[in-house]
This record gives sequence, structure tokens and C-alpha cells, in this order.
Amino acid sequence: MSRDRLARLLALRHSPGEVASKSERIYRSVLGRSEHIRAGNFDEVGVADLSLLFDLYDAEFFGGLLGAMLKEDGAGKVTLRLSDRMTKAAGKTILRKHRKRGVFRLVERAEYEIAVSTLLLFQTFHDVDRTVTVGGIVCRDRLEALQRIFEHELLHLAEFLAEGRSSCSAGQFQALSRAIFGHSAAVHDLVTPREIAAKHHEVRQGDLVAFEHDGRTRVGRINRITKRATVLVEDGAGRLFSDGRRYMTFYVPLDRLRKQG
Ligand SMILES: [Zn+2]
Repeated sequence: MSRDRLARLLALRHSPGEVASKSERIYRSVLGRSEHIRAGNFDEVGVADLSLLFDLYDAEFFGGLLGAMLKEDGAGKVTLRLSDRMTKAAGKTILRKHRKRGVFRLVERAEYEIAVSTLLLFQTFHDVDRTVTVGGIVCRDRLEALQRIFEHELLHLAEFLAEGRSSCSAGQFQALSRAIFGHSAAVHDLVTPREIAAKHHEVRQGDLVAFEHDGRTRVGRINRITKRATVLVEDGAGRLFSDGRRYMTFYVPLDRLRKQG
């Protein structure tokens, strides 16, 4: 059965013209039907919008295969989630397996979750003005970016349903994403907190910075940037790091950092 599923997946193929008209139809349907998304560069998005996208994509691009496989497995609906914490990945698809006691034996059930980063979506098409691509395709607005992200995640879901595993660095995924969606890459260059930090606060990973903490000026190096900067300050009371020195870790809002010469 799973071989048959993979065969059905591998048989899906849309010409560039079909891909363009299908995704345009979905774009228009979302604008027409969504309660939140009223413009290509929307300011609000809800879980219901992901659910709408799921149905439209399954019908247009998968011929109902996703819904059919989920139903056959008794997997229930895919949990759809918006995340304002995902600072690197634009989307994530997770398979969870649960063992339940059946009448005669343990029954394994799969649950699926797709999460989309609203943090990256809303930071992009805001005040950083440059070309943005997702899956190797130039996106003109947030809705197009959301569609490309969702397409990538739906393929993860399709592979999970067909084979129980999925990897977007593997050749099969890349062949499928090209054949079904015309994607030429499995990466995005949406605007990340790192880029915002460089643009507005002129700080980057590795920079020497000063900040105030408990009435004392501390100086350290930026180790990581998410919503805040992780700054390592050399301190005898700190934790031992691999370079043989001890550092204390501080999480500092970007606007409180002063770059040091
Ligand atoms: Zn992926």
C-alpha cells in the first residue's frame, strides 16, 4: 500500500503553466474567502487560513490524495499552527506516533502537525526592501511567500504519509517539489531577526557590545541573535566554554546594545 502511495505521489506532475494558474486560483480564493487575509501583504493571519490553504492545495495540486491518505490511516486532521518563535525555519512538519491499546494488540497511530513562522512572514515585506525567494521562486508579497512555504510543508506531509519519513535534502523530495510545484530549491531567504538586527541596530553575530545590567556596564560578544541577542561576557563566575574561559550568558534586547569599536 505504501508503495502504491509513493507511486501516486510520483505520478503527480504539473506543467509550469498549470502551476501558475493553480496557485493564482488559490491566491484569489484565499483573498475572497479568508476572514483575515484581505491583501497580498496581509497584517493578520489565522489558523483557519492554513486550513483553507490545506483544502485548496489538496484539491488543486494533489487531487485529494492527502485527505484520502489521512482518512485511510484514521489519522484525523492535521494540526495547523502559527508560530511567532520560529526564527530560522519558515515552516515545520512533524509526525508523531502514538501507541494505543486496541482490543487485541497495540495500535500505532500517527498525528501530523504543520507550523508556519508568522515571525518571518511579518518581518518580510515590511521595511527591508529586496527580492525575496522561497523554494527558489521570487515572492511578490506575504501571501505568495505563505503559499510557497505551505507547498514545501505539504510535500513533507505527503512523503510522511507515503513512506513514514521525509527529507527535503534528499533527491526524491527535490524531484517531487519540482514536478508538483516548480520549486527549484528547498530554502528561503525571508527576512530573519539577524538581518533586522544588522539593519536597524547595526549589530551582528561576533560583534563586541556593551550593555547595562543591574547598574553595571557589561561587555561581551554576541553569540546568537533571535528576538534578543545572546551575549557571552567573560566572567570567573560563569560557565566553562570550549575555549577554556568562563562566560556568563545574557539575553539582551537589541536596542539596549552599544556596539564597541
Ligand atoms: Zn523542509
